[in-house]
Amino acid sequence: MSNSPNDSFSTEFDVIQTFLFDKSQVRGEIVRLNSAWQTIQQRRSYPPAIKRHLGEMVAAGALLSATLKFDGTLIIQAQGTGIVRLLVVECNANLGLRATIKLAPNIDGSLIDEQISLAELINPDGLGKLAITLDPSNRGEGQQAYQGIVPLMYQGKPVETIAQAMMAYMHHSEQLETHISLSCNDQFASGILIQKLPQIGGKLAENISQEELLDDWHRFNLLVNTVSDEEMLDTPPDVLMQRLFAVEANDQKVKAFEPRKVYFECQCSRIRVGNMLLMLGHAEVLSILEEQHQVETTCDFCGEVYHFDPVDCEQLFKAQNLLDGMRPAQGKH
Ligand SMILES: [Zn+2]
Repeated sequence: MSNSPNDSFSTEFDVIQTFLFDKSQVRGEIVRLNSAWQTIQQRRSYPPAIKRHLGEMVAAGALLSATLKFDGTLIIQAQGTGIVRLLVVECNANLGLRATIKLAPNIDGSLIDEQISLAELINPDGLGKLAITLDPSNRGEGQQAYQGIVPLMYQGKPVETIAQAMMAYMHHSEQLETHISLSCNDQFASGILIQKLPQIGGKLAENISQEELLDDWHRFNLLVNTVSDEEMLDTPPDVLMQRLFAVEANDQKVKAFEPRKVYFECQCSRIRVGNMLLMLGHAEVLSILEEQHQVETTCDFCGEVYHFDPVDCEQLFKAQNLLDGMRPAQGKH
């Protein structure tokens, strides 16, 4: 279920604007989500104390996926041992994204104090981790998933914000100097990223020194740090880019790319749930049927409910047996 990425779209929100300071060897992105973020909130109800962090992670997911050079999905997972066990955002190369959270057992989300810090929520013992996985869609054909994992620590302390977690990841796992600002309210989830590009072969562009590069990087950081949460949430990305880098735009030092649409998309389907039941095995499924008269499963991401009654389950395993029976015959060709 998704809004098509190909519809003509406004650049006000649900877009990501990417740009490049060619000579300064820095790239940037600004994202602002509205309906994609609203849909995530409507599909499942999230405790207010956690929603803001999830929204910021959703914005980060879009920022990190905008430059994906492969057909697949980027998965961000923050895992820990607090009230929140897991925050997950998945975004594919077309910028279709979904998100969910998992709470510790027997926690009533509505009772969580809204003022609780991110560190207390997910990382009370300092052992929490941030994992980012690049999962290619053609994994069966020799393509491998890549995963980087870092502690949920920033400058020696448990991270206080999702932005800190993402910056720590970029620093330790990707070794790319990156600044990320994120913000979220009920309506919008927004973010800004600037990143130093690796110097190709250690060479600098003509007419620029190492000092000038460093000056530029500091200047861009200062500029991004002037953006308030309100400004990030209330301003369309292309407008914010022009406002922030007006000097560079004047000197034609910033190259802006076409804004891209970001949208909600969940990959769950009846076929996938069926495959999951096949993996559970016939005996296990029969025992669930005996207890509950049907198998019911709800998608953690979009809240879609899938029902399999005894007839559905029989058909599922019958089809599987048929396929299994055909396999050796196919192998002979
Ligand atoms: Zn789903």
